[in-house]
Amino acid sequence: MTTPTAPLAPGRLYIDGGWRSGEGLRRDVVNPATGKAVTTAADATDAEVDAAVEAARRAYDSGVWSGLSGRERSRVLYRAAALIQEHAEELAQLETLDTGKPIQFSRMIDVGNTVTHFEYYAGLAYSIDGATRQTGLPALAYTRHEPYGVVAAITPFNFPLILSTSKIAPALAAGNTVVHKPAEDTPLTALRLAELLTEAGLPAGVLNVVTGGGAVGERLVRHPGVDKVAFTGSTAVGRKIAAAAAETLKPATVELGGKSANLIFADADLDSAAHAAVSGFVFNTGQFCMGGTRLLVQRPVYDEMLARVAGAAGGVPVGDPLAPHTVVGPMAGQRHLDKVKSYVQLGVTEEGATLVAGGHRVESLDGYFFAPTVLADVRQDARVVQEEIFGPVLTVQAFDTEEEAVALANGTAFGLAAGLQTSDLGRAHRVAGALKAGMVWVNTWGMLDVTLPFGGYKQSGYGREYGPEGLHEYTQTKSVYIPMS
Ligand code: NAD
Repeated sequence: MTTPTAPLAPGRLYIDGGWRSGEGLRRDVVNPATGKAVTTAADATDAEVDAAVEAARRAYDSGVWSGLSGRERSRVLYRAAALIQEHAEELAQLETLDTGKPIQFSRMIDVGNTVTHFEYYAGLAYSIDGATRQTGLPALAYTRHEPYGVVAAITPFNFPLILSTSKIAPALAAGNTVVHKPAEDTPLTALRLAELLTEAGLPAGVLNVVTGGGAVGERLVRHPGVDKVAFTGSTAVGRKIAAAAAETLKPATVELGGKSANLIFADADLDSAAHAAVSGFVFNTGQFCMGGTRLLVQRPVYDEMLARVAGAAGGVPVGDPLAPHTVVGPMAGQRHLDKVKSYVQLGVTEEGATLVAGGHRVESLDGYFFAPTVLADVRQDARVVQEEIFGPVLTVQAFDTEEEAVALANGTAFGLAAGLQTSDLGRAHRVAGALKAGMVWVNTWGMLDVTLPFGGYKQSGYGREYGPEGLHEYTQTKSVYIPMS
């Protein structure tokens, strides 16, 4: 492993193509597997946020990036993909150190998808085409898709690399410049990514990283030098960001929370359904916006499925995230662990849920480990069913008919993802159409691909990431009209 020194130096910010030592308050960056600090991150001061926005503004206005052809931008982004691949092990180690996610997933999913994103949007940078339009008048009329200018990208703690890349790669492909604020808990890979992109040939000021908490994010969103806001995080913060962006009429995409239902019909392949159910809620220690955290099971197979899921949840390997076969690592921090514990207690002591697996901190381990937990016999109006817990906690409910299953699945404020397990093809199409969610999986759970747009319905937000849709969030359309005479 290459030692990831640069982002581990205390209090670093990345502004205008180089490191700065942040002058603001410092907070510990903690390894969740041990509970010990590995470095400190600075809360960027107002002056530092302004400096980052000014650097991005200068870089944008100078045309050093926005003035390049798509082909030239594409070459830099392909080089970035290759460099990220070259540093894959270093980035995976850094991501696991910062988040506690099992190293096998950091390598395969987090770093793997980061490379794929840069390659994909490098390809799309070539083809940001407009269209000619038949106006009915003697004129040539056409459209152009142009960048917005300076993008503020604000990301959460659970997939630091992927969720920064899913904004940075398309924003850069379209010709924007970016100021990125990663989550206060997990800033390390964002800092290293900025450095690698500079090495790949990104001009100074095109990508800047400021660390810190909500106040830093808020200053960015309200900043007059920012033209577009891209946010992933909780619904509560998304609402504030949408309101702040509206005050200055900035376009914003907000990718928010979820409470996704997985429907198991009695005709499903029960082995595959049980696998989808368990992997769907333990993946990333349940800190997965698209986690399948509500299991709805048709009554004839309810008891069998509950027994299978509880048994499998109890057998999932929990432990050291650096061990090669670990599937569930620690929660990302103390506050996340406390939130999960309090929801499980609420469900069991006040909402009548039956605890059939887990329900406790893993005391034999030092970090923030929580055992995969299954709560059965829950009511639809219980808070453990309606609210996002964001930990390895599954609620299980029974249903009789397809209509009832769809009504229960759609019966929360969220609409990020949903899934159904069935061997009936007609039902698969019918229910996929009826579920109010931006992503539906049939006979699996959790598959994402860079070509497929994803984003929320209802309180899970608006806008799409991934796919060509993800690129177009970073362009605005101009019409050009030229009379023939
Ligand atoms: P969070 O909303 O607490 O924080 C997200 C980011 O917003 C952080 O960088 C934070 O510092 C910043 N922030 C906080 N207050 C702000 C403000 N007033 N103005 C500007 N920025 C502010 O989310 P989190 O706890 O880091 O992440 C978990 C949440 O993210 C969950 O709700 C999860 O479902 C959601 N999420 C959604 C998706 C998706 O694609 N829809 C993906 C991953 C995570």
